[in-house]
Amino acid sequence: MGARYTGRFAPSPTGPLHAGSLVAALASWLDAKSHDGEWLVRIEDVDSARCLAGLDRIILQQLADCGLHPDAPPVWQSQRSSLYQQALDALVANGLAYPCRCSRKDIQTALDRLGHGHTRHGERVYPGTCRTALSSPASDVSAAHWSACAWRLRTDVYASNRPLAPVSPAQAATDSVANHRIHWHDRRLGQQQQDVQQEVGDFVLKRADGCFAYQLAVVVDDAAQGVTDVVRGEDLTDNTARQIFLQHCLGLPTPRYLHTPLVLGADGQKLSKQNGALALDTSAPLLMLQRAAACLGLPEADDSASVGEALAGWVRGWRIT
Ligand SMILES: [Zn+2]
Repeated sequence: MGARYTGRFAPSPTGPLHAGSLVAALASWLDAKSHDGEWLVRIEDVDSARCLAGLDRIILQQLADCGLHPDAPPVWQSQRSSLYQQALDALVANGLAYPCRCSRKDIQTALDRLGHGHTRHGERVYPGTCRTALSSPASDVSAAHWSACAWRLRTDVYASNRPLAPVSPAQAATDSVANHRIHWHDRRLGQQQQDVQQEVGDFVLKRADGCFAYQLAVVVDDAAQGVTDVVRGEDLTDNTARQIFLQHCLGLPTPRYLHTPLVLGADGQKLSKQNGALALDTSAPLLMLQRAAACLGLPEADDSASVGEALAGWVRGWRIT
């Protein structure tokens, strides 16, 4: 390993931590500690409309109650817009991002015309309408009148040549692009791959309402914070190829990835804030941690152990390398 291990937990303040989010928090903390690394906390409040006031403080308190203390002051994505704008500007300057005024209905109409029924989690792959318009001589991406539109990544340009991507040998060892597919390795799930251009299309980097997209913010922050290892819930696995794609476009290093098992609700669905998962009861932190540890295949800590003793035992027992 080159750089010192730096991991992070990145909750969205859309609800308090629940049993599922504690598994991801605990796993990222244990992985950092077992590698003698640093553990950071980043509040992912880039989509401010979805975030609830005060929940960031509640989440930080829940983590502290469970003995999970960040090694540096937490950062808030809502205060880092200038970093995201710089990244977007770099992509635009290199012809890798373009403005898009399409509404959902426009996209649907264009896809219907092309005879594409392709769906992805209910959302349709962007047909590239504004990308095509861009090549007309009248277009000028630097014009101020583009201020109120969305910005998308050009996945076709990247697929044919890798303009901004000075790939380091270490990076080339962990992921690669072959036949337009991103190949990457997950420490638990093994080899993964995705054709971002075909399966996702030109995804949004900044929305028309001025909000930066999760994908861009995460990639910029992970690099800016020197994150070497991303440990997060398996529900986010699907984002990884897009994030590696963006890292390449921006010439940023690719961290290692580990996606942790999800906690399922009684209905067999992933436990989430959306399906009413209960907030963690941190008046009994050891019990909450025991459940999270069991989900990660760790042995039960002694009931008489303190939170610190239990955590130390699990650091010693952490086997995912
Ligand atoms: Zn468009």
